[in-house]
Amino acid sequence: MYQTDVLVIGSGIAGGITALQLADAGLEVLLVTRSKDPTESNTYYAQGGIIYKGKSDSPELLTKDIILAGANLNNEKSAYILAKEGPKLIEDILIKRLNTSFDRDENGQLSLSLEGGHSISRIIHSTDATGKAIEISLINVLKKHPNVKILQNHTAIDLLTMSHHSKDKKKVYLEEECCGAYIFDNETKKVLHAIAKRTVLATGGIGQIFLRTTNPKGARGDGLAMASRARTRIINAEYIQFHPKTFYKEYGPLFLISEAVRGSGGRLVNKNGETFMEKYSPEWKDLAPRDIVARSILNEMLTKSLSNVYINICSYLSKNKIKKLFPNIYRKCLENGVDVNQIRALVAAPAGNNALSISSLMKEHSSTMIT
Ligand SMILES: Cc1cc2nc3c(=O)[nH]c(=O)nc-3n(C[C@H](O)[C@H](O)[C@H](O)COP(=O)(O)OP(=O)(O)OC[C@H]3O[C@@H](n4cnc5c(N)ncnc54)[C@H](O)[C@@H]3O)c2cc1C
Repeated sequence: MYQTDVLVIGSGIAGGITALQLADAGLEVLLVTRSKDPTESNTYYAQGGIIYKGKSDSPELLTKDIILAGANLNNEKSAYILAKEGPKLIEDILIKRLNTSFDRDENGQLSLSLEGGHSISRIIHSTDATGKAIEISLINVLKKHPNVKILQNHTAIDLLTMSHHSKDKKKVYLEEECCGAYIFDNETKKVLHAIAKRTVLATGGIGQIFLRTTNPKGARGDGLAMASRARTRIINAEYIQFHPKTFYKEYGPLFLISEAVRGSGGRLVNKNGETFMEKYSPEWKDLAPRDIVARSILNEMLTKSLSNVYINICSYLSKNKIKKLFPNIYRKCLENGVDVNQIRALVAAPAGNNALSISSLMKEHSSTMIT
């Protein structure tokens, strides 16, 4: 049995930073995570970058962009708090406390990029592996923290509450109160109790319920299930973190083509090489928020009976710049038979059964395609 001030379940950016802040404030924290490697999380796989602040930015402008990208369904107060406090927290925690290595320009200033849904450049990044840089720096600091104990390879299976675990059946009439969690030791196969004054669920998303997802295997909604069993109020569970663009190969791996590719000038095209976002979003075009882009791609595929669409980046960025900004995407495309440098017309192959459309595209268009 473990006893602690705060039990944090999940070691991604949410759980990790919560643990760090509480530990810095002098509390004893038990950080439980299901993988052997505590960096394994959605956070680790985040590519494009994280919102900081642009040159002529303001909390009002960022709030406006957040609400627009959120289809006006956001809690406006929360969006404003995020916009107002976010940049300072990025500076204090990620840049100063964790010393995460973000890309800088020739003058040593943080390099800011643009992404869909943002009206100005305000995203900081570490090439196309920003999450990995953040997560590694975070876990390294947590591992050395005297107030933090990391319990890896342990899966939280249920929250401990008086009413749903007490032997006294009448406790069910009491108000729900959480006093820790049952933790499964993946190695010994034993269930342990972790008793805590406060418990934080930070188990990430639920992308794995879908056939196609960019989320890792651990994103299966454990936290939501535990919270639901403990009769916690759950809201907005229908909003799922998703990406409109992945590499597409019929039986091949599915990996994210970063949102930063659109932000760097990439334009979505159909199999004839025609751009189409202006039809669906005349104002934003290819820089539209993700939901608009996803619906537009789907519509284009359905109305034209296509298995996929493409993104043309080569017409807008030099091959060296593509390699510099997106080294991991470049490498993964290469591993899947698409060499940006050798095949100028193609950055990434579309569907495995799509050789015909690739070759016709190559003849007709000298543009770069990523599916
Ligand atoms: C491929 C990809 C690219 C992305 N790119 C970006 C980007 O460029 N910019 C951006 O802002 N966002 C990006 N995102 C989204 C971003 O990564 C997530 O919103 C963020 O990392 C979520 O952090 P989290 O801490 O909530 O969850 P996670 O990072 O997923 O952490 C969840 C943790 O909980 C653990 N866990 C789960 N269940 C249990 C259990 N039962 N017991 C114990 N531990 C458990 C997991 O192992 C993990 O440690 C991207 C996401 C993906 C998948």
